[in-house]
Amino acid sequence: MIDLHTHTLFSDGVLLPSELVYRAKFNGYKAIALTDHVDYSTYDYVIPRIIEVSKILQDNYEINVFAGVEITYVPPKLIKDMVGKCKNLGAKIIIVHGETVAETVPPQTNHYAIQAGIDILAHPGHITKEDVLLAKENNVCLEITTRAGHNATNKEVAMCALECGAKLVLNTDSHEPQNLLDKIKIENTLKQSGLNLDYFNIMQQNSYTIVASKK
Ligand SMILES: [Zn+2]
Ligand SMILES: [Zn+2]
Repeated sequence: MIDLHTHTLFSDGVLLPSELVYRAKFNGYKAIALTDHVDYSTYDYVIPRIIEVSKILQDNYEINVFAGVEITYVPPKLIKDMVGKCKNLGAKIIIVHGETVAETVPPQTNHYAIQAGIDILAHPGHITKEDVLLAKENNVCLEITTRAGHNATNKEVAMCALECGAKLVLNTDSHEPQNLLDKIKIENTLKQSGLNLDYFNIMQQNSYTIVASKK
């Protein structure tokens, strides 16, 4: 299994990177990305530390670990600038905290994020068809999430992505160990998203394609 959206103590997750990664490996993960929330105040603190520990964990725990970020509540017109700064510091997986219906994410975040050179738009909420088409054009994957609250629009996102030919990935947005991916979460989330269970493999392949392009 691969999961490209998780949080540690470096933002609002409850576990150290080492514990999160080891637990993920124990649960059968082959690859994980550590994607803590960052903005202009924290990106330069978080990224080098996540890169250092990711390398150590990958070398010692037989799991592929990718250092990433989830750019969060950055003013939409500045997302592209933030993406550049995160990439310059070595972040491999670039996610943006999309316009979930569970929060007050700044309007137009989806629209600007999709054009900012990111890998995944997380929990895009009521994303417009125009932006789904733009995501396809820019090779940005849209996220189907197992996370409560953010998952309210999974079906809407999935159906529009299928109609437009945009790529989907399945992530957990784990903040606690019990959020990590397992068979029941996979089945429930796919069902809730209106997707056939086989579609899990397609989404996993999309995630592997993202990480393969980073090596
Ligand atoms: Zn988020
Ligand atoms: Zn998140």
